[in-house]
Amino acid sequence: MKIHLKTLGCRLNEAELETWAQAFQKSGHQITRQPESANLVVINSCAVTQDAARKSRNLIRRIHRDNPHAKLVVSGCYATLNQAETASLMGVDLIVGNQDKNRLVEKTLAELNMDSMPVMSTEPGEFSLFTRGRQRAFVKVQDGCRYRCTFCIVTIARGDEMSRPVQDVIDEINALHHQGINEVILTGVHLGGYGSDLGNNLSDLIKAILSKTDIPRLRLGSLEPWELSEDFFELFDNHRLMPHLHLPLQSGSDSVLRRMARRCKTKEFAAIVNRLREQNSCFNISTDVIAGFPGETDLEWQESFDFIKNTGFGHLHIFTYSRREGTKAASLPGQLDDEIKKRRSQQLHALANEMKQKFYEANVGNEFPVLWEGYRETLTKDTQRVYGYTPNYLRVGCVINNDESIENRTIGARITAVCEDYVVGELGDK
Ligand code: SF4
Repeated sequence: MKIHLKTLGCRLNEAELETWAQAFQKSGHQITRQPESANLVVINSCAVTQDAARKSRNLIRRIHRDNPHAKLVVSGCYATLNQAETASLMGVDLIVGNQDKNRLVEKTLAELNMDSMPVMSTEPGEFSLFTRGRQRAFVKVQDGCRYRCTFCIVTIARGDEMSRPVQDVIDEINALHHQGINEVILTGVHLGGYGSDLGNNLSDLIKAILSKTDIPRLRLGSLEPWELSEDFFELFDNHRLMPHLHLPLQSGSDSVLRRMARRCKTKEFAAIVNRLREQNSCFNISTDVIAGFPGETDLEWQESFDFIKNTGFGHLHIFTYSRREGTKAASLPGQLDDEIKKRRSQQLHALANEMKQKFYEANVGNEFPVLWEGYRETLTKDTQRVYGYTPNYLRVGCVINNDESIENRTIGARITAVCEDYVVGELGDK
């Protein structure tokens, strides 16, 4: 899909555009300078003056007039302050308020049903999975993959597995911590393959990081659910390793998994999930699923849907299958109609919401240390809402006084209620 991004207003708006461009590209989409040839246009609007608001309105109208077929997403201050007016402008498909800006790409792809196959299996997920910020950084520890999942182009695009030496990773994490970063996410194309070329493994790397750095929080990015060594699970006894894993399932039907050439079938997947939940009942497990893989029958689809529902996930990243030249799956028989793929994807989106709410509710009453972020919403002249993340990656919102700042501090909160996109926290002692 071709995407055109346009901004009005301040430097912050420009910086956001840059972040969105990267995230769209990582999700397999292309950025174009020509609005007329785009399938999707994203506008970051401005309302700092009456004139800026007028320009924002005119820009939305012009973009739609010049390319009426493109989907149109509007974010920024004008859209946030004038939601109803923006929604009434012709061609606007989605408004993403300022409070959701850091999830604009994820929301756009999900709500406009545009999540298509990523260029490289697991890696792009990180960008929509985790927010980047002054308190959190990604550290890439590995590249390449030696497997051949039939939908994935990674082996062709990225080649052999290559791991960074342990000391390199430790040095980078220490430097980040020194700069004030409190949470590091380890990423790789095939993170579980870490060390295959060095003679060690991911567990060894985690142990070394936990013992040779003081980084308060260590998180793992997307991790294929195989090759996990026996001692991997007990690493989570150390509370600096966050109890959240994104384990790509791709399908909950074993026959589809076989056609995908996945190394982990549903029985092994379920065993891993059970083990993690036995270890910590609040463990958050999220996953990727492909809807409409070639040859997926109604029965296989139902099997997959039931498995996903019974397992229960904190978050589902849904990809609608699309053919990618160069992959084995592109030449498999039984390519499905777009209508069927779309229907299955919509069913999964509804299930994903249900499961997320259930996970939120299961955590009500619990107390967690929360790492608070910089984003704030002014509520009244005295109060503001700030957000942060628990170890198990629940997004918590809590109300504090306008003159307070808790950014980049870890302060406990008790979860008291559930909202659509976050849980409500009551702040403990500072
Ligand atoms: S394990 Fe499969 S899906 Fe993941 S990167 Fe390797 S080939 Fe791609």
